[in-house]
Amino acid sequence: MSGKDRRRLSLVKGAQITVQCDCGRLNYVAYGEKWQCEDCKRVWNTSQIPPEEYWGLMRSMRAERLKVIGMALGIAAVFILLGSLLSDAFYFMMPIAFSGWYLMIMPRWRSRLRRKARAAPQWTLRPE
Ligand SMILES: [Zn+2]
Repeated sequence: MSGKDRRRLSLVKGAQITVQCDCGRLNYVAYGEKWQCEDCKRVWNTSQIPPEEYWGLMRSMRAERLKVIGMALGIAAVFILLGSLLSDAFYFMMPIAFSGWYLMIMPRWRSRLRRKARAAPQWTLRPE
């Protein structure tokens, strides 16, 4: 295969990999799977990606998601604690705290995740 048959890949969120065919067609392929381009019949195999790189990236994405779930649980725990110790008013403040969190923290978290995904390595596959 000649050099111009090589194409770069990038990772989208989730477990799927964006594969761009030489003809320009895009597809999302799970790791370890093959995809035959409908237009030009080239076959792309995502298992050419080194597994330690792929799974390392998956782990760091999952850690980000766990962080956000942990944060939400932490907020709930604090307000439940305050509500049971101090005043019922804290139970009613919980939704306010959550919407504040959702509006202030989540967009930042999402853009950090996007930056991370963009900074993710790109791999070059060879058509089979
Ligand atoms: Zn193609």
